[in-house]
Amino acid sequence: MLDLVSEKIQGAIKYLKGEGSITEKNIEKALRDVKLALLSADVNYKVVKEFISRVKEKALGEKVLTTVLPGQQFVKIFNDELTAILGEKNVPLKIPSKIPSYLMLVGLQGTGKTTTAGKLALFLKKKGFYPLLVSIDLKRPAAQEQLEIIAEEVGVNFLKINSGTVKEAVGEIEKEVKNKGYHPIIVDTAGRLHVDNELMDELREVKEVLQPFETIYVADSMTGADAVKSAKAFLDEIDFDSIVLTKLDADSRGGAALSIKYITGKPIKFIGIGEKYDKLEPFHPERLASRILGMGDIVSLVEKAQEAIDEKEAERLAKRLAKKEFTLNDFLSNLKQIRKMGSLSDIISHLPNLGGLGKINKMALDDKKIVHLEAILLSMTKEERENPVILNGKRRLRIAKGSGRPVSEVNQLLKQYREMKKLVKKGFFRKFLNFM
Ligand code: GDP
Repeated sequence: MLDLVSEKIQGAIKYLKGEGSITEKNIEKALRDVKLALLSADVNYKVVKEFISRVKEKALGEKVLTTVLPGQQFVKIFNDELTAILGEKNVPLKIPSKIPSYLMLVGLQGTGKTTTAGKLALFLKKKGFYPLLVSIDLKRPAAQEQLEIIAEEVGVNFLKINSGTVKEAVGEIEKEVKNKGYHPIIVDTAGRLHVDNELMDELREVKEVLQPFETIYVADSMTGADAVKSAKAFLDEIDFDSIVLTKLDADSRGGAALSIKYITGKPIKFIGIGEKYDKLEPFHPERLASRILGMGDIVSLVEKAQEAIDEKEAERLAKRLAKKEFTLNDFLSNLKQIRKMGSLSDIISHLPNLGGLGKINKMALDDKKIVHLEAILLSMTKEERENPVILNGKRRLRIAKGSGRPVSEVNQLLKQYREMKKLVKKGFFRKFLNFM
């Protein structure tokens, strides 16, 4: 997602870094590709226009004009402007203590609304809440059935509504809540393929009767600019407080992610990153921004790592990173741990995409390659792994033979290792450490 945008922004930064002075002309040139990439990612045109003009304005700011602008400064400009459109940091979902408390989901059909209801229920259950799932789509009995199945799968309670009106439905819910103390009540609502008056009237009524503490608009990121357009229609017609952006795992462009907050003014609180019910993550805009800028989403990766890696090992790695040490022994001992963290492509999508690391990504995506990587590392002596500078041609040849891999792969591994080490040195893993 947003790979091209990321590539072009990084290209622009690199290009501008190399220019002797910053002029209107070279800024224009640097931003042309960024603009095209944003448009082809289906980012809303208003957002593109605003983003480009603000970056330009800042880069041409009086202080920097005609002087050499350090690369970091460009990174900062892009980062600031990405943050301006994405939002600064995660806006958490706050559940009031009042009972009953309703959380209402709205959105078009097929966006993943019902799935998201189940995901949210699971998310809240894990946080110690006792949620109840209900569907107030009174015209479509299948909607109730679908939600009931999901509730069972995620292990939360579900209440089947038998009433024909919203008011009666609320009566049914409140009776149940009074007896059982469910908190909060997650309400799935009707959807249609397109925005229409009947749907809006129905949702307005549900909202008025429920008085939810939070109305969440569920948007399908795969529909790009259309998702943003319908979000605006829902906002104008019934209003909502926040957004869940679904199917980001399947969205290769990322236009909705970059536009929807700016256009609606409402924060994206969660993202859906898979069909399974645990594939819902709080959205951290600053992490997406740093991913676009090629600095990787280390914090998300660490969060995943925390779930999978045993603490002692993580602590050991943190200490090594603090000392800016990262040897091939660390590389090896972490390969297995890393694999526990989920699918490789999942992990890799969080990794920094700088220089040679792009190549690591491609290589690591292939599970077989990981086995080869391990074979090469295991053919080295402990000393060689600790101090890879001693790996001369002769040693590399021996390792290649020992592992049954070509010398070129040994060289490639060492190159990737050096890139990774550079990142460690540059402190890109700082967040990692703060987190530990
Ligand atoms: P609704 O009509 O809005 O209630 O949509 P559903 O919840 O029935 O979801 C429609 C389809 O989208 C289903 O096949 C879901 O499995 C799928 N889906 C929902 N969320 C995600 C997601 O985050 N990633 C992916 N890949 N698929 C999703």
